[in-house]
Amino acid sequence: NSLTKTFQSLRPPLNFPQEDTPLSVTEYAFSLRANSPWPESVALINPVTARRISYSDFIKKTNRLAAYLQKVTKLSKNDVAFVLSPNSIQVPILYFSLLSLGVIVSPVNPVSTESEISSLVQLSKPVIAFATSSTAHKLPELLKRQAILIDSPEFEYMTMSSNYEIDRVTVSQSDLAAIMFSSGTTGEVKGVMLTHGNLTAQVAIACSFRQQRDSPAVMLYTMPYFHIFGFYFCLRSVALSEVVVVMERFDMMKMLKAVEEFRVTHTALTPPVVVTMSKGGLTDGYDLNSLEGVLCGAAPLGKGPIAAFTTRFPNVELVQGYGLTESTGAVSRTLGPEECRHWGSAGRISGGIEAKIVDPETGEALPPRREGELWLRGPTIMKGYIGDPGATSETLLKDGWMRTGDLCYFDEAGFVFVVDRLKELIKYKGYQVAPVELEQLLPSHPDIADAAVIPYPDEVAGQVPMAFVVRLPQSSLNQAQIMDFVAKRVAPYKKIRRVTFVNSIPKNPSGKILRKELRKVAVPNGSSS
Ligand code: AMP
Repeated sequence: NSLTKTFQSLRPPLNFPQEDTPLSVTEYAFSLRANSPWPESVALINPVTARRISYSDFIKKTNRLAAYLQKVTKLSKNDVAFVLSPNSIQVPILYFSLLSLGVIVSPVNPVSTESEISSLVQLSKPVIAFATSSTAHKLPELLKRQAILIDSPEFEYMTMSSNYEIDRVTVSQSDLAAIMFSSGTTGEVKGVMLTHGNLTAQVAIACSFRQQRDSPAVMLYTMPYFHIFGFYFCLRSVALSEVVVVMERFDMMKMLKAVEEFRVTHTALTPPVVVTMSKGGLTDGYDLNSLEGVLCGAAPLGKGPIAAFTTRFPNVELVQGYGLTESTGAVSRTLGPEECRHWGSAGRISGGIEAKIVDPETGEALPPRREGELWLRGPTIMKGYIGDPGATSETLLKDGWMRTGDLCYFDEAGFVFVVDRLKELIKYKGYQVAPVELEQLLPSHPDIADAAVIPYPDEVAGQVPMAFVVRLPQSSLNQAQIMDFVAKRVAPYKKIRRVTFVNSIPKNPSGKILRKELRKVAVPNGSSS
């Protein structure tokens, strides 16, 4: 079937629960955990304190917290909970509790600035916030009063108190589970609505890749829990009874030390980290023999780094995957050593997922080897963007297809290759930066008349935001001042890292910035992803 114009998955077919099935993703993951061959295994490890939480304690804490939040905090189904926290072993307990109550989780990057946070709050409209002693001050006043600190003794008490009995809540597969933030194929940041069914399907897909093992896999999490990557990994790890080592923030040396100390078998890394590891030097002196697999997604990885990594770590499977927040994370991956040798490919699409390559000009579906926009259909595709029917209908098309905004092609064997991004999105170390947001900010400087922002290729970060700036006549504003102006107003990963001065910004007749032309000016001989 790889010769037809709709690419069906070549993986074994999967059964997903029906839309109206009363089943929360918490119940689903816990039921799979209940069949684990390791009833006493460890769920979570904090590598700094070496604190461990067993699965039986994890489930008990989740249920007790849920009872407390229902009875004392009075949270109920369809309430939205804002989560502003770095990674910690409290976060998965919180997520599973909220999801069991049908409370919608809206997680946000804890390095966001106050003004970024207040615009996200307006999108997801939370009734409560879960923050930490280091992030709570950034919440808007109203939410500050409704905040629970998850690094406090009170939170610990909530997860231990057996004073409350929970009233069962019926959560069905079609109920909303999460609102995650993404700028999608156009402009501003939007709230991606994911259902329990989306997450359940993603967990079912992850379980379909399960391999027979003699002991639980030990997963080191460096990816953030607020991003879809970390969010669904948190769910699948429970379903698969994995031991999860939670790193608060990424630190190369601490990661290597944790791999050695906890005999980590699997980890997920962003491309820059794979690049660094493949160069050696830093990894010398650490025993990394326990490593079996490294997952790499969220941004493209070049052939050079893959080759270097594979030579350095011949026994480690370097799995590549591709996905979006809007597809609840990965829709394709490589599986097994043979597929991993398809360098540069993001693997084959998962069971239950269909894909199409569409000519952006003609709308025609294209055969293998032809480049076009990737469209996706399947049970992990989002419900839409919250409060934004316009953006939703531009992205979710008839018959359930979703536009990804990515330029891709398939080969005859069903491997997908990501070539470029059609959408206006910069990916800095796997994080999304919306050019529009920076383009709106730059002219708020008194000396800037107009500005445009594009992705500039970078070996370590993948891409960095680059600005084209039109200064007012007689202004002596320099590059460093512009970078500094932006840096003071946005989260660190959104900083402008290159500036070029121009006389005008190229625009089409309706005023839309012609980013393609600017990309050609910035990088004359190549694509910028
Ligand atoms: P996010 O919603 O933050 O996960 O970002 C999704 C976007 O990241 C996709 O639409 C792609 O543009 C990019 N992306 C994800 N995985 C890959 C990959 N393996 N290769 C290239 N780009 C990727």
